[in-house]
Amino acid sequence: MPLNKACLQQFFETTPHVPVQRLESALLQKKGITLLVRREDLLHPEVSGNKWRKLKYNLLAAAEQNTDTLLTFGGAFSNHIAAVAAAGKLFGFKTIGLIRGEAHFPLNPTLQKAVENGMKLHYLDRETFRRKNDPDFQEKLRQQFGNVYLIPEGGTNKLALQGCAEIISETEESFDVLCCSAGTGGTAAGLLIGLNGTKELLVFSALKGDFLQAEINQLTTNYNGKIYANWQLQTDYHFGGYAKTKPELFSFMQDFEQQFGILLEPVYTGKMFFGLFDLIRQDSFKPGTTIMAIHTGGLQGRAGFSGHFPTVSSPKAIS
Ligand SMILES: *Cc1c(COP(=O)(O)O)cnc(C)c1O
Repeated sequence: MPLNKACLQQFFETTPHVPVQRLESALLQKKGITLLVRREDLLHPEVSGNKWRKLKYNLLAAAEQNTDTLLTFGGAFSNHIAAVAAAGKLFGFKTIGLIRGEAHFPLNPTLQKAVENGMKLHYLDRETFRRKNDPDFQEKLRQQFGNVYLIPEGGTNKLALQGCAEIISETEESFDVLCCSAGTGGTAAGLLIGLNGTKELLVFSALKGDFLQAEINQLTTNYNGKIYANWQLQTDYHFGGYAKTKPELFSFMQDFEQQFGILLEPVYTGKMFFGLFDLIRQDSFKPGTTIMAIHTGGLQGRAGFSGHFPTVSSPKAIS
């Protein structure tokens, strides 16, 4: 299928309505906390959550440049890989995914679905993968794959930040504290740009360590020369590192899903809500605080952990 620019432009022209849901529980009531969840996960079943936001201006730019092939990078469970493959299928881009590590067969559900959506997979050993942002390496990729629109790992670049900043301009409900999960930090950086120094942003790292502190400052600096002070990195809720889990994470997620009827996945949103409820329990927020947590989507990732959940159907898109 050739690139369908009209379809792409129409897809991103107006953001579908994103519902904001208030969670009610005895704990929240006791602590005097209003907790709102912005359901970015409902934007689209496959180009979901923050990946919709991060791809918006990148895909429009690729089409503007008449590039019909998207090339990007990711791990084997990457929501970004899943979203790029799905976007390729929707709009007629050819897609190439450079995957970290060795091929494992059968493919996991994320990669299987990416292939079904037409993505061509190539595997890079970890050392080569680390060169993903190196200009010489990228030049080589262009020689190998031709005229491609290159999207960095996780989709994080300036255009992605611009897309994520729109979450703020589109949010009508008032709040004191905003919460998001972070992998590359692109979403958090975009939210900071949108907030422009107002309110507080709590960023829950899905990875071990505190490197995101410098990374997010670097991203906003590259974007507009600014380092923002109205945010905090939470580094205590990584559960051992990226995509690592523990039984208590799954039991929290099961309780959460039952109590509030909102599905989570264990790589990002499960860890964020676990951390947020832990902080609420520890009285980290003054009574009367309104918290807005962003559900960044990624529910395709549940399939890779299906043994830990009762079977559920995927969420419906907003029509
Ligand atoms: C990719 C992803 C993130 C991390 O976003 P970054 O911009 O890389 O920090 C958070 N939540 C979900 C559900 C994701 O898929």
